[in-house]
Amino acid sequence: MAGVIRRLDETVVNRIAAGEVIQRPSNAIKEMIENCLDAKSTSIQVTVKEGGLKLIQILDNGTGIRKEDMDIVCERFTTSKLQTFEDLTSISTYGFRGEALASISHVAHVTITTKTADGKCAYRAMYCDGKLKAPPKPCAGNQGTLISVEDLFYNVPTRRKALKSPSEEYSRIVEVVSRYAIHNSGKSFTVKKQGEMVADVKTLPNASVLDNIRVVFGVAVSREMIEVGCEDQKLAFKLQGYISNANYSVKKCVLILFINHRLVESSALKKAIETVYTAYLPKNTHPFLYLSLEIAPHNIDVNVHPTKHEVHFLHEDCIIESIQKHIESKLLGSNSSRTYFTQTLLPGLSASVSDVKAQSVSSAEPSERVYAHQMVRTDSKAQKLDAFLQPVSKSSLPETPAPLAPAQASVEVDDSEMLDAVEDLEPSAPSDSQIEGEHVQSETPPRKRPHVVEDRDDLTAACAPRRRVIRLTSVKELRNEITQHTHRGLQEMLQNHSFVGCVNPQWTLVQHHTKLYLLNTTRLSQELFYQILIYDFGNFGVLRLSSPAPLYDLAMLALDSMDSGWTEEDGPKEGLAQYIVDFLKKKAEMLEDYFSVEINEEGNLTALPLLIDNYTPAMEGLPLFILRLATEVNWDNERECFRDFSKECSHFYSIRKQYTLETEATDPQEVEPSWEWKVEHVIFKALRSLLSPPAHFSEDGTVLQIANLPDLYKVFERC
Ligand code: ADP
Ligand code: MG
Repeated sequence: MAGVIRRLDETVVNRIAAGEVIQRPSNAIKEMIENCLDAKSTSIQVTVKEGGLKLIQILDNGTGIRKEDMDIVCERFTTSKLQTFEDLTSISTYGFRGEALASISHVAHVTITTKTADGKCAYRAMYCDGKLKAPPKPCAGNQGTLISVEDLFYNVPTRRKALKSPSEEYSRIVEVVSRYAIHNSGKSFTVKKQGEMVADVKTLPNASVLDNIRVVFGVAVSREMIEVGCEDQKLAFKLQGYISNANYSVKKCVLILFINHRLVESSALKKAIETVYTAYLPKNTHPFLYLSLEIAPHNIDVNVHPTKHEVHFLHEDCIIESIQKHIESKLLGSNSSRTYFTQTLLPGLSASVSDVKAQSVSSAEPSERVYAHQMVRTDSKAQKLDAFLQPVSKSSLPETPAPLAPAQASVEVDDSEMLDAVEDLEPSAPSDSQIEGEHVQSETPPRKRPHVVEDRDDLTAACAPRRRVIRLTSVKELRNEITQHTHRGLQEMLQNHSFVGCVNPQWTLVQHHTKLYLLNTTRLSQELFYQILIYDFGNFGVLRLSSPAPLYDLAMLALDSMDSGWTEEDGPKEGLAQYIVDFLKKKAEMLEDYFSVEINEEGNLTALPLLIDNYTPAMEGLPLFILRLATEVNWDNERECFRDFSKECSHFYSIRKQYTLETEATDPQEVEPSWEWKVEHVIFKALRSLLSPPAHFSEDGTVLQIANLPDLYKVFERC
């Protein structure tokens, strides 16, 4: 006998449909958050009890619901957002089917308290199976809406049973709220358990996307984010977001994907992105991404499934490919930093400060024997990196630089002897006065290893005017500080390296034994100039400016630049600039005597110290240097003053990223050497002989080992 087909009770139909839309508390919360956002809320507070199964409460400060609409908001297919089917194609709000609240009210007890801006008071109403239980009651309340959802799935025991773990539900809720918080920076979100004082996630109204990523996922991720953004007119899409760089990886891929501001999933896109990262991340590790994709509404099919979770869109393959390309290009741009950071602790240069003292004089011998097969390039005159780059006609440049100092060779003293020289000779130098000898300014001063020579007049006498012997305790202390922190392994490497090539003004490749290193030219050159300032204290040559530079104008220039950090509260710039001029004029005598910085009566800068031959600092840095002399130097304490001055000055002299790459086409007779030439022939030459590298350089990323030949062999053997 055939079964009788009976029409299902309407509420049963609705309940089944509701179960489709709302599968767990976090789905309900997502729908309700979207309603809050649709209602232009800027503050959304979620409170839950028992993972949302007992209670979900969402409070917003949006437009509220008009009293007239309160009786129908929970009916299916009622929405204030859509009138005709055509609207579907241009929809910009999240919800559009009027299904969420209706569904929730079929599987839970819903109470809505709401007030509009022009409503006289708030109204509260309770709903069951999509219908008002009683007419809305007036009550007190602020503008916005509070929706409480109690006893979710009380009437769907199977579903209820399937959701056994409130704590798992709670973590899904926190996940949904935090993702919407990240996507909606500028609006504040909180989520907490009922009865708790402190929210588990709380974002602030003025926070940025990155701030929110940090709040939710921690500082380690947020530090490694690269901003992405691209747009394609033809494919009618726009992408924005943040992706982790190659330094960062997680066990499981995190892709926070919003399409047209709705949190969705796209396994096709995820897969495509993961493919890009495989080339950059260690095996079995994955990236972190937050992407916001906007697609022309007519290209997106949001109508796939009530849960609207996994999405598909027109031209999916092309759009995905375009996104892949963009991500790849961004990763490539930041790729270098991966190697930099993974190798910041130098395995090959482990000699630390502590063993420097233990090393005997004999350590001057090469510590490791290098066999021919381990050599990568044994002749330092062999081709360098720039040989493979486009040749620039710099015919007027000397092939090799002018010798740094005529006495260079004669001053080549073994390091250990050199240290002794400083310690032994200095105290016995016959003088009561702090500075003796006359201060001779030379346009071409002697260059020598600063530690060695100062008291050994015999060494320099032949080539230079007499050096003044500096007897200031402060200077001696600063010198001691340098020698004490010297990293012998690094020093040996710098002395014996082969120059490979400049990557850019900031980074240089060198080779030492079988290893390839990436050196931070900015930091090394800054330390170099600092040490020269301390060691050659009171004995600098003079770099005379072609025309005097008014300190006032320099100070004004600096104050006008972003880097000065000037704000209105600091007072008018003119007053500050004048103050700087007057202040530095008072220090002029000392600056000239010790540092060869010359300031004339009219408040013009006329000379700077000549720290190494063939090198002038990039003058773009001059205004800020002048400003910082007045603001960053502690002029009250002798030692601090010398140290601060030297730090500021060495910063100004160091090779910087923004260093003018192209020297202006001036008189062809007088071609200024390129920065590459200066790095190789001036800076690195000086680093070889003059620098006592501090130990921290081996740990802070200044010196990075990027390849070791034997390891490379191992890789090749496997191929
Ligand atoms: P949809 O969002 O698809 O319109 P919903 O069932 O999610 O359908 O919501 C039904 C209606 O209830 C919305 O169109 C809106 O007018 C109103 N509404 C729901 N939540 C809020 C809220 N937090 N603030 C203001 N209005 C709301
Ligand atoms: Mg909605």
